Amino acid sequence: MLETDSQFPPQSLSGIDDVVIVGGGLAGLFCALRLAPRPVTVLAAAPIGQGASSARAQAGIAAALAAGDSPDSHLEDTIAAGAGIVEERVAELMVREAHRRIDDLLSYGVSFDRNGSGNFRMALEAGHSHPRIVRVGGDRAGAEIMKALIATVRETPSIRVVEGVVGETLHTEDNHLTGVTALNRDDGKRYLFPARAIVLAVGGSGHLFANTTNPPQAEGSGIAMAARAGAVIADAEFVQFHPTALAVGRDPAPLATEAIRGAGATLIDENGERFLEGVHPLAELAPRDVVSQAIHRHITAGHEVFLDARAAIGDGFAEQFPTVAGYCREAGIDPAREPMPVAPAAHYHMGGILVDANGRSTIDGLWACGECASTGAHGANRLASNSLLEAVVFAARIAEDIHGLLPHPQAGWTGERGSDGRASSTDESAQIARLRRTMMDDVGVVRNREGLLRALDVVAALEVGGPSLQMANRLITAKLITMAALRREESRGAHYRSDHPSLDAALARRSYLTLAEAEEEVAGLTGYADTPRAAAG
Ligand SMILES: Cc1cc2nc3c(=O)[nH]c(=O)nc-3n(C[C@H](O)[C@H](O)[C@H](O)COP(=O)(O)OP(=O)(O)OC[C@H]3O[C@@H](n4cnc5c(N)ncnc54)[C@H](O)[C@@H]3O)c2cc1C
Repeated sequence: MLETDSQFPPQSLSGIDDVVIVGGGLAGLFCALRLAPRPVTVLAAAPIGQGASSARAQAGIAAALAAGDSPDSHLEDTIAAGAGIVEERVAELMVREAHRRIDDLLSYGVSFDRNGSGNFRMALEAGHSHPRIVRVGGDRAGAEIMKALIATVRETPSIRVVEGVVGETLHTEDNHLTGVTALNRDDGKRYLFPARAIVLAVGGSGHLFANTTNPPQAEGSGIAMAARAGAVIADAEFVQFHPTALAVGRDPAPLATEAIRGAGATLIDENGERFLEGVHPLAELAPRDVVSQAIHRHITAGHEVFLDARAAIGDGFAEQFPTVAGYCREAGIDPAREPMPVAPAAHYHMGGILVDANGRSTIDGLWACGECASTGAHGANRLASNSLLEAVVFAARIAEDIHGLLPHPQAGWTGERGSDGRASSTDESAQIARLRRTMMDDVGVVRNREGLLRALDVVAALEVGGPSLQMANRLITAKLITMAALRREESRGAHYRSDHPSLDAALARRSYLTLAEAEEEVAGLTGYADTPRAAAG
């Protein structure tokens, strides 16, 4: 295979790995634990716990565990948020299996917050009709869950973790997966990991956009790898933008949680004027997309936008929102006395590798879970705190599926560990920055045909000259998101087209796209060929 130098680590030459999981966030680690004691190799681009959105999650996991709540109600809210295209059977499995996965997390050492009577302390979030969010360590849910899982993974002898390796290419024979090639950042070489089953759990695509809450590793590599191997990608156009990321020059941008607006903070511009009151009856508490679009419009019109918590929260801010207060402190802002600069940021990708209820992709031997997969449970818009839930529910279903399909584990290795990897700098930073700016400007909160065609042209320009495999993967995912957004000529959920601002009932269905179809359509686009390539250069 073209880019394979040798195998890694050399000890694994003894045989084919049984299961390789690419990605060490919540989805990947949970799947590995559920597969134990079957031998599993986890490949992670960064040391596990770093480079994962999971560790950044603040609110918690949605699960209908409170008195008076029910999976049916959770399902109803999930379907309502998904704007007409939720895969209801899949969403139903997700909400019904929530309590079992919470039990698993408890058994892996996660200590969920409890009230005085020893019951879970349940929080309410936008779009949920009951307090339904199980929290850990206040607003540190993701970090605490990952800490517990990493400790359990480290103590599980059947799990080998190889850190600092970036999965780049899936290898298939007759539409059956045979292995994955990964770049080892330490020595710059590529290594082949042959496997009977591969699970992609590499997270989202947020870092393809200039403003994002996602870590740098969330650059859509799973979608690209699977698409290059021929897999179907679903709902790629649906990217959720969080309205209030702190615009303090950090990448990723820290999140100013919705709860701050819930506590009465307002959105103002540089003149101290509120601008959401005329936009939606709920003003600052309008749905995420409405608020994101209003902020986007105001910024595009030349304004600056701030979240003002001075009157509503004031001196109590640091106590109520310690994580956000910490980010502000580092930026020299005192939210009790000053408004916080904010802007929308790419936050969550509803689209991804098309999978069924067992996490199977359209390629034999390839499963996907977590944010890189598209189960259809979120439809066109994700209900808050459903993503950690989706990650654990479908990771567990994949483990069960693999146990059933491959009942006799092959011990391809014997428990040796990979070493911690270092992040390496890239010499492609100018191209990456250009891609991210283009995605934010033309495939961001507000889209139209002209901008989407411009974005496709920039992608084509960046493809010239044979980019590295990692850059090629970024460009492929960017192209799939852009093409899916171009195809959907309506506004639905998180996808807003200024040239098609209404929802079209006839388009209430999921979208499916292969790389071959996208390439063919790009080549045949009217208007596209007329766009001067040099202008995009
Ligand atoms: C700031 C923030 C707050 C959030 N809050 C919540 C919340 O409160 N509740 C909720 O439900 N959801 C929340 N979300 C969304 C949720 O955190 C993510 O959707 C979820 O954690 C994704 O889990 P994952 O395992 O799929 O991906 P990740 O946790 O992102 O893990 C991906 C893993 O894959 C690795 N990787 C990436 N590319 C490669 C590659 N090519 N090769 C090898 N490894 C690779 C990464 O290094 C990482 O180990 C939040 C997201 C953010 C960014």
